[in-house]
Formats: sequence, structure tokens, C-alpha cells
Amino acid sequence: MSGDAQDPVKTICPYCGVGCGIQVKPGEEPGDMQFMPWGDAPVNEGRICIKGGAATEVVDHEDRLTDPLIREDDGELREASWEEAYELIVSEMERIREEHGPDAMGFYGSSKVMNEENYLLQKLARRYGTNNVDNCTRMCHASTVWALRTSLGAGAMTNSMEDLRDAADVLWIQGANPAEQHPIANSQYFRQAVLEGATVIQVDPHANKTTRSFKIDETDRHQHLQVKPGTDVALLNVVLKTVLENDWIDEAFIEERTEGFDHLVETLEDFDKRSAAEECGLELEAIERAAETYATAENATIFTGMGMSQHTSGVDNVQNEINLALITGNVGRPGTGVNPLRGQNNVQGTCDVGAMPNVLPGYQLVDDDEAREAVEEVWGFEVPDEPGLTNVEISHESGKSVHGLYIMGENPIMSEPDANVVAERFKQLEFVVVQDIFPTETAEYADVILPATTWAERGGTVTNTDRRVQLMRGVEKVHPNTKHDLEILSEVGTRLFDEGFDFEDVEAVFEELRQVCPIYHGMTYEALGEEGLHWPCYEPGDEGDLYLYEDEFDTENGLGHIEGVRHQPPAEVPDEEYPLVLTTARLEEHYNTGTMSTRSPTLNRVKPENFVDVHPNDAERYGIEDGDEVTIRSRRGEITVKAQVTEDIKEGVIWTTPHFAAASANKLTNDVLDERAKIPEYKAAAAEIAVDVEPTGAEPADD
Ligand code: SF4
Repeated sequence: MSGDAQDPVKTICPYCGVGCGIQVKPGEEPGDMQFMPWGDAPVNEGRICIKGGAATEVVDHEDRLTDPLIREDDGELREASWEEAYELIVSEMERIREEHGPDAMGFYGSSKVMNEENYLLQKLARRYGTNNVDNCTRMCHASTVWALRTSLGAGAMTNSMEDLRDAADVLWIQGANPAEQHPIANSQYFRQAVLEGATVIQVDPHANKTTRSFKIDETDRHQHLQVKPGTDVALLNVVLKTVLENDWIDEAFIEERTEGFDHLVETLEDFDKRSAAEECGLELEAIERAAETYATAENATIFTGMGMSQHTSGVDNVQNEINLALITGNVGRPGTGVNPLRGQNNVQGTCDVGAMPNVLPGYQLVDDDEAREAVEEVWGFEVPDEPGLTNVEISHESGKSVHGLYIMGENPIMSEPDANVVAERFKQLEFVVVQDIFPTETAEYADVILPATTWAERGGTVTNTDRRVQLMRGVEKVHPNTKHDLEILSEVGTRLFDEGFDFEDVEAVFEELRQVCPIYHGMTYEALGEEGLHWPCYEPGDEGDLYLYEDEFDTENGLGHIEGVRHQPPAEVPDEEYPLVLTTARLEEHYNTGTMSTRSPTLNRVKPENFVDVHPNDAERYGIEDGDEVTIRSRRGEITVKAQVTEDIKEGVIWTTPHFAAASANKLTNDVLDERAKIPEYKAAAAEIAVDVEPTGAEPADD
């Protein structure tokens, strides 16, 4: 897929799930590449945010991994040949399987790499004999995917940015901050809807750039409900009860297209709206007004973000949003639906192609005999019929039932909660492969480190947040001894299993993916062209769907599933020792564990380090001045950062970010999981904050 070295190539931004098209212009030398706008790119029409514009800066960064590395017995790394690295990987994977069985390995896919690469990684795991394969969606939207798949049919946006821009009258944005985390979606689509008259209801503990971009706090038209972290089910129950009391429901839609309405009514029968509103830290009347705005609109849509999904009640949170959409008939039309704003540029595709422990490509359940057997027929080997471990479970089991890891393009030491303990667990592993572009924090625990090429140097497909599958194209490699993830997986698979991993090129992998993934079956590279296609495309020639469920849901009986849910507090609530709620989120200028973004000079100039937002009343209580260095502690660790004293955050809550290795929020976060989706509760932990004290340097508690 490499283009002519002198011609710019059209590709897709490697950062967020909006899927903006950009161009990469090669220079005299391979590393001299530059960013160029792609004027008629289908999603963004040439517009770009700060991250997209800076994306090429890190491609030839001096920290790039350029040769394979092997760790010696004394712990030191040495350069190795690819042959040596492959031999060691194959012999160790074979040894682990012989000594402990196939479930002793865990595989991490990556939402930073292409569909074809994730497809091959999950196939490798399954050929090895395990379903222990997962990706970072576990950390961001696993609960959303669970609730949407179970209640509507597909774990993805019901609608598209395009139809929401053109038809939505109300944007209900809960636990998401699109102005910072999906900037072009916000500026080009959601703002356009607002300019055309749409009303915004924002539900978030933090006033942020989204609040300011719509001037939410400055007008009577829009509303910001500054809810306490972890009370979203309670808030939505107030909304639902208000809708029922006022008969703002869509009776015909409920009757013809849904099941479970009686259960919802029963759940809310003795529900006390006023005390629930108090629990949320809000006036009842404010929530009632928001309920009326949503329920009486012609077309109302819900955007849901990680403020909803990253809780022990993550599935319930999203189910209650689905309940609201279903009882008001706001699904199956342009401008409606329940729409998760997905994080990384290919997190949707990584799930679509089956890099998850419970599903095969196209969300076919591994324990569905018929679906599994159809995939086995194409692959020519048997797939285990029990779901495997999620990535947090793999981490919990490291050194116990899990003895080896194959990690492609992920950084679990930084991205998983309670990071200090994750590092301790990884020390217990017998063998770890890390395949990446930079020496990540996780690579410090690797026995073999494989240097991969970056997003700008290779081609393939990625799937953005509204299900649009698009082609990426690559320019010449910067470092000749690096390899594409696909080449590496192909070689490892072929050495381990002889057959099934040797493909002529990336398109040939996509062709096999189409055979086992019904929602991609109708796509070809030719049909994707420059515009891409929104899945599902079941047959060649299908043009894809901008919105889903016009006539029926993709559930077994075709009905949308309503289910009443009750508020459960977060697993850890404030007490005397840890009196504050710590919550976390991402910044506009950085991305996840910062592997790429914190190496970008432009992004670092704007946001060079972590910080914490503290409400003025809390600042006074703890003697904190704006700009002070403060130590934040939870039961799991501590970090030292600068304080920003601001009314943006609710009193009693402190807010920080996970991007910076030296002071990552994940040294503090709680690794307790939502029971069904197994997503950790990043969004609510008990914490204390202090100024003018020496950090204790305390060791993390034992697991
Ligand atoms: Fe890249 Fe997202 Fe910014 Fe678009 S909005 S340029 S996809 S980071």
C-alpha cells in the first residue's frame, strides 16, 4: 500500500474516533513527512483539530523503536535479529501452551492499528486455542457495547454524525465532552445542529469546553446538569418518571417495537424523585425541565461517553439511556438514537473484527454454535466455545493462571486502573511480547520488543465512531528494520501453525475478514474508495446505513429491550479518610496513555503536564491556592500535580487526567469492575488532597 515517495497520500488521523481524513506529504528523506489538509475528506472536509495537525510530528521521533530487542537474564535489553526474535517468541509460546495450556496466554489487540491487523491477532489467539483476547474498548465503552448489543442489537452508534447534524432537535450529551474529545464532530456536526436550532442538555460533573462551545451556562435555551459522579442512573430515573407522569411516551412505538415497558413502570412505582435529585446534587425542577425538553422534541438524540460507561453501573447507566430513547420513540429515525462517541480512531473496528473474548468477527458470540461453526469452516480449525478473559481479568490473572502476554500496540501498565499493582503482577509473568512503535511503560516488562511501523507508513482499513469503514494509505517506512504489525503477525502465525496466516497483502486479509464478518461482507477496497461505507453492508453493492433499526431491532425477536434499573452507588464512596470523589477524563491535546501525544512538541507546548481541578470551597477547606503543587492520594497510590482552582468542577469532586506517566490518574483509580461488561470504575474513587506535605512514597498495597 506504499504510495509514490513524492506524492502526498490520503489517510485517516490516528487519534480519535471521528475519523478525519488528512494527507501525509513525504519529504526528501523518509522521516521528513509533513501534514497536509485533505480538502474534500468525507468526514471533515479539510478541517482538523490540534492533535490531527500534529500527528506527523511523532512519526520520526527519536524514541522510535528501530530494531527488535531481547531481554537478557540480567534484565538488560540487547538488539537482536528478527530471526532470533521470532524463534524465541515461537518457542516460548509453544512451551507455555505445553506446560500450562492455551489459556495461559493473553492477547491484547489495539484500537490504534487497522482492522486487518486486529483480525489477524484475534485469529492467532483462537488458533492458539484461547479466547483470551481483548482490546482497550474494555476500558472505555465495554458497558455501552454490552447494553446496546443486548437491548438494540449492535454495539455501535445507532445514527451517524451526518443525520444527527441534519435532523436532531435536542442533543442530550451525558458523560461526554465532544468539544475536547471529538473536536471536529463537535464543531462540524453538533454545532451545526445547534446553529439550526437544536437544544443541548449536558449532563456532566465538570463544566468543560463543550459547556463553553454551546454557551450552555449563558443562555436559558440549553442546560447543564452538573451531576455528582456515579449518580447517572438516579438522574435518568427522575427523567423517566417525569416522562411517565406527564404521558410524554410514544405508546404506539412501545406497543409495536419494544418489550419490558411494564418492568420499567414497576421499577419506578415507589421511586422518590426529590430524594434522588438530592442524591444527584441537583434541583428536581432542573431535571424535570430537561426531561420535558428531550421528551417533547420531534427528534431527540443521546450522546453517551465514558462518564457513563466507566462505572460499576456502566451497563445500567447506558440501559437507562436506551430506556429513555425507547419509551419516547426516539430510535430508528434520523436525528435520534443512542450514540456512543468512541475514543481511539479504530476502537469500533477492533471490536467489529472480533478482538474481544466473547465475540468473533461481526459480534457473533463464541458460544453460538451455528455462528462459530460457520467461522470455523472458513478458518479450518476449531475455536474454543467459552468466552475468554477480558484484558483486566488477564491482568488480574497474570502470574496465576496467565503466564504469557502478546501485546500489540497497547500500554496496559498506564491504561489499566490501579497501575502500581498492574506493574507488580506483570513482573510475575514468564514471557511478554510487546509490539509497538515506542518503548512504552509496558515494554519495561517485555522479554521481546518488536519495532512496528506507525499509522503513516502502512495501509489498511479503520472504522470510525459512526461505523464508517475507511481506507488508510501509507508512505515509505522511516526505519528500514521496522515491520508492519500485519507482517509480524503473519510470520508468527505461519511459524506456529504453518497455514492460515500467510497473505499476499493487506487487502487479502480484508477479503478473508469479509467472509466471516456479516456486517462487512458487502464491502471491498474498491467499494470503500475515498468515501468509505457505514456498516452494515451485508451484500456486495450495499451502500451502508446512516441510521439503524428503521423497521426492527437486531435482537432475536426484533424488539427493543426496555428494563428498569435502580441506582447503586460507586464501589468506593468518600469517607473520613478519603473525603473527596476523584474523577478522570481526557484532554483535547493528549491521548490515552500519551505514547504518541506526549512526544509531540506542539501538544506538549500547550499541555505539558498533568493537573487537578479543585472547587474553590474545597481549595479553601484544604488551604490550596491556584497553582500550588498538591498530592492526591487514594487507597492505591498517590500523585503530585499542580492545582487549578475552578468552579468548573462540582464541590466535593476533584478531576484529573491519565495521560502523563509521571503523574497518571491511573495510579489512583479503582480496578473494581462492572459485573457484566467487566469495565473498571475509572470515574469514581475516594481520594484526599493535600498541599505542603511530603508525598509518603508509600508502596502500593499487595494485590
Ligand atoms: Fe483527529 Fe479526532 Fe481531531 Fe479529527 S477530531 S483531527 S480524528 S483527533
